[in-house]
Amino acid sequence: MAAMPCSRMLGLLGGMSWDSTAVYYRLINQGVAARRGGLHSAPLLLHSVDFAQVAALRAADDWTQAGQWLAQAGAGLAAAGAQALVLATNTMHKVAAQIEDGSGLPLLHIADPLGQALVVAGFEHVALLGTRFTMDDPAIVQRRLQQHHGLRISVPAADDRALLQRVIFGELCRGVVNATSRSAVRAMIERQRAQGVQAVILGCTELMLLVDQQNSPLPAFDTTALHAAAAVDWICHPQPEPEEAEPTP
Ligand code: GLU
Repeated sequence: MAAMPCSRMLGLLGGMSWDSTAVYYRLINQGVAARRGGLHSAPLLLHSVDFAQVAALRAADDWTQAGQWLAQAGAGLAAAGAQALVLATNTMHKVAAQIEDGSGLPLLHIADPLGQALVVAGFEHVALLGTRFTMDDPAIVQRRLQQHHGLRISVPAADDRALLQRVIFGELCRGVVNATSRSAVRAMIERQRAQGVQAVILGCTELMLLVDQQNSPLPAFDTTALHAAAAVDWICHPQPEPEEAEPTP
């Protein structure tokens, strides 16, 4: 008998922040429903963390403990039946390897669908907007975009990076969407365009609450939408047919 389509069980590590996880949840379910129709929706398990605990560990520069905690959450999802993980934040990809090792599950890395989409669109030089961690630490997504996808990455100037950090943690991660901040981020993207950058990465999963394809001065690549689409591809990947049992002599 053929395996059911779209039946692989995904583990979603979310809550960072919950507003963007809610968007992941909606997009993944909509994506599976669009493929299968009817009442179909996504088979997934969600572990939504208390973001304040993650933020406190990071403020103490204890990424190892934060990674261990997320790896434990991933191991819980594995024990409950998840076959792969999606980590619904760019920043915490800093501990992606620790989560994979500790959970025993493959992680669908946020940089890969992003890099593929940028390459398919023909862009080579792109700006990365995100938290200060993501912009300042090449190991989170930048190196993977450079080495696996051949992209050249720019980040905004220091005062723009500081502004983004304030907007992300002071507003967007608290559910606040502010028109003044939207204008400031658009102006920041405009400055990148003036410097010859071809496209902008919304490299924080809440940034799509503020900027989108319609209001961005550069073509915008939203990591939330691209990552959710990759999750749908993974869930819907055809599974091998179960082997026929050997006839008993
Ligand atoms: N969701 C954000 C990101 O994609 C920020 C939250 C966090 O710091 O984990 O990086």
